[in-house]
Amino acid sequence: MPSCPRCQTPVQTVAIQCPHCGLLLKAHGHPGIPLHQTLGSQYLCADCAYHADDSCTFPQRPQATTCTLYQSVGISEVETSGWSKTGPKGPSHSWTPRLILRRYGVWISLVLLLGISFFIALSSQ
Ligand code: SF4
Ligand SMILES: [Zn+2]
Repeated sequence: MPSCPRCQTPVQTVAIQCPHCGLLLKAHGHPGIPLHQTLGSQYLCADCAYHADDSCTFPQRPQATTCTLYQSVGISEVETSGWSKTGPKGPSHSWTPRLILRRYGVWISLVLLLGISFFIALSSQ
């Protein structure tokens, strides 16, 4: 059973919030979205693969203290919550749907919009 990174109280894996100190452990109130966070003075981005490959477009970069997409590159030991330690280590260059959407979401949306527009134009004739 994991423990709260702040008060070390044992908490359930699906716990959204620490029942003892109230620290948020999951993002958006969803047990499936881990909330990575630093409890020290360093920022998460300093050790994040998306910062290293310059693919992050989050406004909180490079000074994020909480983040749902943090991926450790293991360059330095950033003090993070226990939740991030369960994530994959090393830079992630695999084409996951989330990464594809982050990088090409605008273009995918435009192509879909154009396709729907053509479909509507053709079907109305
Ligand atoms: S994904 Fe989060 S932790 Fe990583 S660089 Fe972007 S804001 Fe920083
Ligand atoms: Zn706690």
